[in-house]
Amino acid sequence: MTPAPTPAPTPALTPVPRSITVVGASLAGLSTVRALRAEGYDGALTLVGAERHLPYDRPPLSKDFLKGAADADSLALGTAEEYDGLGVEWLLGETAARLDPAARTVTLGGGRELRTDAVVVATGATPRRLPGTDGLAGVHTLRTLDDAVALRADLTAGSPRLVVIGAGFIGAEVAATAHALGLQVTVVEAVEVPLERALGREMGLLCAGLHADHGVELLCGTGVAGFSSDGGRVTGVQLADGRLLPADVVLVGVGVRPNTDWLAGSGVAVDDGVVCDAGCATGIPNVLAVGDVARVPHPFTGRHARIEHWTNAMEQAATAARTLLSGASTAPRAVPPYFWSHQYGSMIQLAGHVAPGARPRVVEGDLDTRSFVAAYELDGHTTAYLSINQPKLFNRLRRGLTPLLATP
Ligand SMILES: Cc1cc2nc3c(=O)[nH]c(=O)nc-3n(C[C@H](O)[C@H](O)[C@H](O)COP(=O)(O)OP(=O)(O)OC[C@H]3O[C@@H](n4cnc5c(N)ncnc54)[C@H](O)[C@@H]3O)c2cc1C
Repeated sequence: MTPAPTPAPTPALTPVPRSITVVGASLAGLSTVRALRAEGYDGALTLVGAERHLPYDRPPLSKDFLKGAADADSLALGTAEEYDGLGVEWLLGETAARLDPAARTVTLGGGRELRTDAVVVATGATPRRLPGTDGLAGVHTLRTLDDAVALRADLTAGSPRLVVIGAGFIGAEVAATAHALGLQVTVVEAVEVPLERALGREMGLLCAGLHADHGVELLCGTGVAGFSSDGGRVTGVQLADGRLLPADVVLVGVGVRPNTDWLAGSGVAVDDGVVCDAGCATGIPNVLAVGDVARVPHPFTGRHARIEHWTNAMEQAATAARTLLSGASTAPRAVPPYFWSHQYGSMIQLAGHVAPGARPRVVEGDLDTRSFVAAYELDGHTTAYLSINQPKLFNRLRRGLTPLLATP
């Protein structure tokens, strides 16, 4: 990937904006309005969200919600009482179509123009689709509550054979949930070692082993050439090596594309996400970005990256609120990026950065029992911790992580 362009030095953002529009009403957007109010901001706040739903939690969509162990109400990120107290104008089911920073306007899909002193971009990302799947019944991606409802309906109609394309975290979680529902599941992964980029080779192989532990077939190192259908509904997945996997339901989990199309022509620098500094400022006064859509300097490498984790969305929201209200973009204390994943009853947690060349060393437990904490070490420095089913120790250790660059 080409290095992200460095945003222009952020000019002073003073005075504090009298009105702020947050575009994207999910975790990062809601966390931003919460943080602004918590910091004492008493100006006008508008939250624009393309989905009809009030903000809800996405992690359970591939886990308990898909399994049927949690209902939609339990996913709510806030309560009616809290939302009343926030004093926010909610524009749900509305899509921002254009941003004009000079005119200080956000134009909605229907043509309505919102005037605003500042904009926080919190529009997240959309799953990538595969060619040949448009309009093909039985082929799913998973990002939204509506996606999860549709996928669950297909998974619980009879005993469908599920093929999951992509053995990343979303694909692995859906495979594990479908296995728990008693379905026959095959996972197809283009690279030889799933999750190698996130976890390194050894731990990528180990996590991929969870599928085999539970009798779920994992086919690595082969791409998808196409799909067979009965005209309207998928019947199989054609692999690049010639094999045809029968399938009644297919989940495509091959990554996401940040939702930035609406920023075209705005002057905001976009390069696989909205390019920001560490204070979430874009270089255009009073335009900031947070959450999965934001491409910020990684706290542990300094290189621009989108950090698609739940906790990051909340941390960046707090950072953006401080930037908006202080009038200056300042980098927060470097917090190690953190995410978790639940698969086959196991809790996987990673914090920090798995630097190229860093070797995992088990510091507690053992790999065979799938219960351990491993430290990734490079030049005597621990750059990350990975844990399976050892949350207590992991959570203690991760607080001590520091960027390699900041080591004396
Ligand atoms: C199935 C699933 C499971 C996950 N599990 C985990 C996990 O176990 N652990 C973990 O750390 N993370 C997990 N994540 C990731 C985590 O949920 C995300 O990092 C988090 O949701 C990011 O929040 P966000 O607000 O930045 O983006 P999103 O949650 O994607 O929200 C963006 C919102 O903006 C809206 N929007 C987009 N464009 C526009 C527009 N032009 N106008 C108005 N609104 C717009 C979208 O409709 C959406 O509602 C999971 C994600 C998914 C999908």
